[in-house]
Amino acid sequence: MLIKKFQESLQFKFVSLALAITVFGGIIASLVLVSGDIKLLRKTLLTKGYSFANYIAEIGQDSLISRDYLRLDDIVSAINHDPEVAYAFIKDNNGRIVTSFFASLNMNMPELKKILSGMPADADVEDTIKSIKNKAVISEISFPIAIENETVGKIFIGMSEYDIRQQIKKLIAYITMVSIFIFIFILFLLIISQGILTKPVKDLAVLMTDISVKKDYSIRAAVRRKDEIGLLSSCFNYMLEQIQKRDAELESHGLDLEDKVAKRTEELLSVNERLQNELSERKIIEGKMRNLMEELKEVSIRDSLTKLYNHGYFRDALDNEFSRAKRYGHNVTCLMLDIDYFKKINDTYGHLFGDKVLIEVANCLKKCVRESDILARYGGEEFSILLIESDYEKALMVSEKIRSYIESYNFKDADISVKLTVSIGLSSLLEDAILDKEKFLGFSDLALYAAKINGRNNIVMHKDIKDAAVIEDMKIKNIEDKIFEVEEVSRQSYLESIRMLITTYEKKDPYMREHSLNVFRYVFMITEELKLPASEAAVIGNAAILHDLGKIAIPDDIMFKKGELSEEEYSKIKEHPVIAFNILRKSTYVRRELDIILHHHEWFDGKGYPIGLKGRLIPLGARIIAVADSYDAMKSFRTYRNNVTPDTIIDTLVEKAGTQFDPEVVYAFINSLDKNGLWPSTMDINQRLIKLKRLAKSYK
Ligand code: GH3
Ligand code: MG
Ligand code: MG
Repeated sequence: MLIKKFQESLQFKFVSLALAITVFGGIIASLVLVSGDIKLLRKTLLTKGYSFANYIAEIGQDSLISRDYLRLDDIVSAINHDPEVAYAFIKDNNGRIVTSFFASLNMNMPELKKILSGMPADADVEDTIKSIKNKAVISEISFPIAIENETVGKIFIGMSEYDIRQQIKKLIAYITMVSIFIFIFILFLLIISQGILTKPVKDLAVLMTDISVKKDYSIRAAVRRKDEIGLLSSCFNYMLEQIQKRDAELESHGLDLEDKVAKRTEELLSVNERLQNELSERKIIEGKMRNLMEELKEVSIRDSLTKLYNHGYFRDALDNEFSRAKRYGHNVTCLMLDIDYFKKINDTYGHLFGDKVLIEVANCLKKCVRESDILARYGGEEFSILLIESDYEKALMVSEKIRSYIESYNFKDADISVKLTVSIGLSSLLEDAILDKEKFLGFSDLALYAAKINGRNNIVMHKDIKDAAVIEDMKIKNIEDKIFEVEEVSRQSYLESIRMLITTYEKKDPYMREHSLNVFRYVFMITEELKLPASEAAVIGNAAILHDLGKIAIPDDIMFKKGELSEEEYSKIKEHPVIAFNILRKSTYVRRELDIILHHHEWFDGKGYPIGLKGRLIPLGARIIAVADSYDAMKSFRTYRNNVTPDTIIDTLVEKAGTQFDPEVVYAFINSLDKNGLWPSTMDINQRLIKLKRLAKSYK
């Protein structure tokens, strides 16, 4: 543990570094110095060897020639005093050793001494040399002995490197000592540095730990020096100061902050709860929406009464099936079915029963077709079916099944039981070679109409129609008639509604109601007498019923005033044709009646109101109503005043013909009254009629 701590410390790192530097430096220094020294020493050694050899060669050449070997021995042994010469010998030209010398007596060479003493007493010179060369470090020098450039022998000197090695050993010992000294010196420096560097840093670290544990930021590090360690301590103290300040600030805000956090947390919790609730509500709503969308989709493609597909869906399906059949080359037939005389069912038993019948017909149809076929209520009492992958033959079978099924079916409700028939038209995509999808429907529709013409309750295939154009015309005519019929029915119901409106008013004034009906009756008599077309007579009749509609707007105190009317009051009453005109003018149903109502108080001589039209410019209907209206007014007036007799009334009419009334109309009216025996007077009216006729002629 301790070792590990030491290994991590800065000191260990420094010691290791110092050791490494010393060892590395020592080795490098040894290598450099030793190798340099060795070279130098060896060079000196060899130079010395050469000078010996040169000396011997010069002195010994004569002795060698004269073979004075003893002399040679002396010469060679002359170098014996040199401590570095290990051996020396001379070879003559024949390679024979003629003289030799071994430094056996040299006390400076214990190594050589040991070798020579180990040799046998009778050892050969060459063997001795070989042995020395093997066991000791020797640099051998050879030098020729020549006289006048002719070699006579060779001198060999073995220089021992023993001394060199001794010196090197000394050098290495010296370097090692120096390295150890340096290492010790570095260690010494480190020990000193501990007090200067490591200890203050350690102290600072201990202080930091202490502060963090105690959380006491008032403690300060001692700043004793002005170097980097002193700077570090100052910075540390400054940092502590800042922390202390921030701490104080935080503490002052602390309580406030806690309150705020608690409040905020509460708020967040309630928001979270609300969000959760909203989320679950939203999920519920989304679920409902999804269901609603599905229902909506279903509603949008279904007919609400029969629950079959509706017209729109059928058209889309027809488009799709048409394209599909074209792509894959299969056949499709389109069946159009219409209930015969269905209007009568409605008229006789009411719409509710009609609806029930439609639902039951739909159910009958469902039973007769396959799942894959598309069955729809095309509109009103018409149904359409797309028979997928079917030709005329199959479609005919299905159609016959439907026709006979409905024919035999009893449509019942309470005590009602009705029998029905249907007409069916068919068209086949391939067999009729239909290229345009619009024609597909058109063909079966035409076939359906042909089935109607054929007497209903039967099936017609489009391919069997001989003259399509004729049937088309008949169909259009039939539709026109039906539209007119519908219009007439709505017109009548419109008039009926207006009559009902007037009734409310008439309840206040029973005379009004009776008056309208009387005028209507007289108008009818006049139009008949004038032989007007029925449609025109009907319009004038309607106008007669509505002619006093405008009186609704006249205030009751004027309308029902007993005494004489003031001029102002009278002019108010005179507004009633215009008021009626304004009320009715927006309706298209009484367009033709409007003018008649507006002008029924015009005079034939142009002195009437509201415009002052004259003669035949006044609509005929208005002229007729004017006569009928006055006649009835005078008649009812008679019931209050006895002096007004039927005769006086006729006379008044005749009298005012040409001024107030159209003579021709008065003529027709009197004539009609007479013919119908409605005038119980005994007066002879012929005279008057003749007069009127003449008058009428004069205006033609
Ligand atoms: P035809 O044999 O020529 O088909 O005669 P029709 O009377 O059946 O034909 P028409 O087109 O004259 O009348 C169809 C009637 O169907 C008129 C309309 O009042 C009735 N109708 C259409 N839709 C409904 C409905 O939803 N309910 C009821 N009850 N009647 C309907
Ligand atoms: Mg019908
Ligand atoms: Mg119809």
